[in-house]
Amino acid sequence: MKLRKVTAASAAVLALALSATACGGDSKDDASSSSSGGGGGTIKVGIKFDQPGLGLKEPNGSFAGFDVDVATYVAKQLGYEPNQIEFVETKSADRENALARGDVKFIAATYSINDERKKKVDFAGPYLLAHQDLLVKSDSDIKEGTDLNGKNLCSVTGSTSAQNVKNDIAPKANLKEYGGYSECIAALQSGVVDAVTTDDSILAGFASQSQYKGKFKLAGLKLSNENYGIGVKKGDTATVDKINAALEKMVSDGSWQKAVDKNLGPADYKNEPAPKIGNIVK
Ligand code: GLU
Repeated sequence: MKLRKVTAASAAVLALALSATACGGDSKDDASSSSSGGGGGTIKVGIKFDQPGLGLKEPNGSFAGFDVDVATYVAKQLGYEPNQIEFVETKSADRENALARGDVKFIAATYSINDERKKKVDFAGPYLLAHQDLLVKSDSDIKEGTDLNGKNLCSVTGSTSAQNVKNDIAPKANLKEYGGYSECIAALQSGVVDAVTTDDSILAGFASQSQYKGKFKLAGLKLSNENYGIGVKKGDTATVDKINAALEKMVSDGSWQKAVDKNLGPADYKNEPAPKIGNIVK
């Protein structure tokens, strides 16, 4: 009996190992990350790894979320099948450098288009309009941005969310900047901070996780407009044009709505309609 169990377990491990090899097999082909054609190569794509509903690396090594689906659709239009995509983690503060260095071909990582970033990278899109909001404990009396002054607040280094807090939402808040939002959520849960601020899309994804159900609430504020774009290396206008065409197609053939429903629906996220390419809401 016992022996049989062990055998079954080893078979499962072996199957996993084999499938991991099959998936990762192409990814050693580094040079192809900068090729714009398809064919036999791979494409490196920057996403977040810790944002449920948007860009998440699952414990089994697979990837899920709206940004993952957008990236997969775009890559397909560029000539790459899903098994030719190598997802690379691009944290908020690393995105511009990852593109400048050529670590990734494009980035789909809740990446807001703004003038500062446009000095360093080019953007296709936008493909989603989100808004900055606050996540607090269910019994918190924090209701608006100004309530944060004097409170402990968490956001992420290199994000527009952190910048907006410092510039206008609550310059007197005690802002802690971490590397990723999952760290902020842990700090909120343990009481190290009183609130987490970033895009409502991200906060809704965390709040809907089973382990946090009933513990947190969104304030429901629209503290900013965050127009998500796909970042590419500065000057790579050919890729921008191709990605814009891909995003337009994704909306017109219904795949965009499907990806929204699948990934943001479970968090009960009330999304804005699909943006028009080039239409930045200030
Ligand atoms: N969308 C905002 C930004 O690009 C906040 C989310 C993030 O850090 O990715 O900065």
